[in-house]
Amino acid sequence: MKIKLAKEDIENPRIQLIERVSGEDLRRCYQCGKCSAGCPVSFAMEIPPSQVMRFLQLGRVDEVMNANSMWTCVGCLQCYSRCPQGVSVAAVLEATRQITLRKGTDHEKIKDVPFPFLKNAPQQAIVCGFRKFVS
Ligand code: SF4
Ligand code: SF4
Repeated sequence: MKIKLAKEDIENPRIQLIERVSGEDLRRCYQCGKCSAGCPVSFAMEIPPSQVMRFLQLGRVDEVMNANSMWTCVGCLQCYSRCPQGVSVAAVLEATRQITLRKGTDHEKIKDVPFPFLKNAPQQAIVCGFRKFVS
């Protein structure tokens, strides 16, 4: 099942880029809300997972790009495991993150990370954090 979108949204190059990078077809989301219900961090997201999908379906890319949702997602794939349509919001959020970082825009500046935190944090957390937040 796919929802129908306006022609201008289907042909929106920014939407097409998100679909190409994520490998997801945004029209497959039918807004059941199971992803948001299961997401462990949706409470902290300015736009929860199901609404991310809806905003993108409506061509409202800027709202999604300016929200903290892509940076808050922890990549647990709970949304994907619960989706009856087999849609991975995690992949969509990863795509928006990659598109932002590939412009050379860092979400976190390494120089701003406090030294005591770097000294005590597990190496894996530091590597994952830099991969996620730094271009
Ligand atoms: S992968 Fe991200 S969006 Fe999906 S449930 Fe986990 S934290 Fe939420
Ligand atoms: S679980 Fe799947 S179909 Fe339901 S709102 Fe989330 S992405 Fe859309």
